[in-house]
Amino acid sequence: MDRLQKILIPLLGLVLACWFYSARDTFKPEMLRGKRVIVTGASTGIGEQIAYHLARMGSHILITARTEAKLQKVVRRCLELGAASARFVSGTMEDMAFAQQVVREAQTSLGGLDMLILNHVGASYFGFFDGDVEHVRKLLEINFLSYVAMTTAALPMLKESEGSIVVVSSMAGKVGFPFTVPYSATKFALDGFFSSLRQEFSIQNINVSITLCILGFIDTERAVRAAAEVLRERPAPRDECALEILKGAALRRRELYYRYSSTRLPLLLRDCAAELLDYLVRSRYR
Ligand code: NAP
Repeated sequence: MDRLQKILIPLLGLVLACWFYSARDTFKPEMLRGKRVIVTGASTGIGEQIAYHLARMGSHILITARTEAKLQKVVRRCLELGAASARFVSGTMEDMAFAQQVVREAQTSLGGLDMLILNHVGASYFGFFDGDVEHVRKLLEINFLSYVAMTTAALPMLKESEGSIVVVSSMAGKVGFPFTVPYSATKFALDGFFSSLRQEFSIQNINVSITLCILGFIDTERAVRAAAEVLRERPAPRDECALEILKGAALRRRELYYRYSSTRLPLLLRDCAAELLDYLVRSRYR
């Protein structure tokens, strides 16, 4: 009986903790109604879908990417879907002055900012590391430094609104992946910067949430073109992925895993069986 109690009580505690954790808050689309949001890399892929979800929820949306014609189409669609307002700024995130200019545009046209969604990603190759250091530097500028520049410029507005920063990253930013060495490096850098910044926000009582999104394989054109032939798994849908990102952001989650089964669960092995995880990652490829 004594032994049974020793097992049952902690087990009950665990079940209650799980129930409490899962039921503590739920997402409602109204949470994003009227919010002023920047979405980068929104001309296509996951960013485009994030913009459409925000539009349906009635947010004010400012999108950016390089291709003006695509951005125009996305803005038109956002307005049809019910966005409170939608506008774009086009330019390249290789240029830090442009990154800061996008944030200034939010200040002038929206009068502030509630959510900064950093999602854009520069083109890279899929294959063994080719030793091109210049490419690594350029990719770090686009995928990492521009995220830092935008965050720094947006912080005064986000502090005022007690807003949120959403950083779209990848499994390749949590565990070493073959064939995407420069890309992986930029995603690991994001984890280091934003996880450290979150700690400092906590110490300084700055009420700005940071949600790091760890994504698996998603069915965007770029990703499917690059990896569908070599990856054994099926890509997850980008519209569902975009919605999960927004739910995690609205609930001010620390990290968001999508899909859970192909990201969070394998990562549980990282500290106790790193070589097994490395092997499992390699076995995903044909
Ligand atoms: P995508 O379809 O290739 O879209 C990338 C976006 O970034 C586009 O809007 C592109 O527009 C913009 N962009 C590219 N270079 C740019 C530059 N130099 N300056 C400004 N904007 C630039 O990408 P995605 O698959 O949706 O990925 C979105 C995010 O999810 C990325 O952070 C990616 O790392 C992450 N992720 C994706 C997957 C996946 O399987 N799809 C998996 C894990 C993580 P323009 O070309 O018009 O500039």
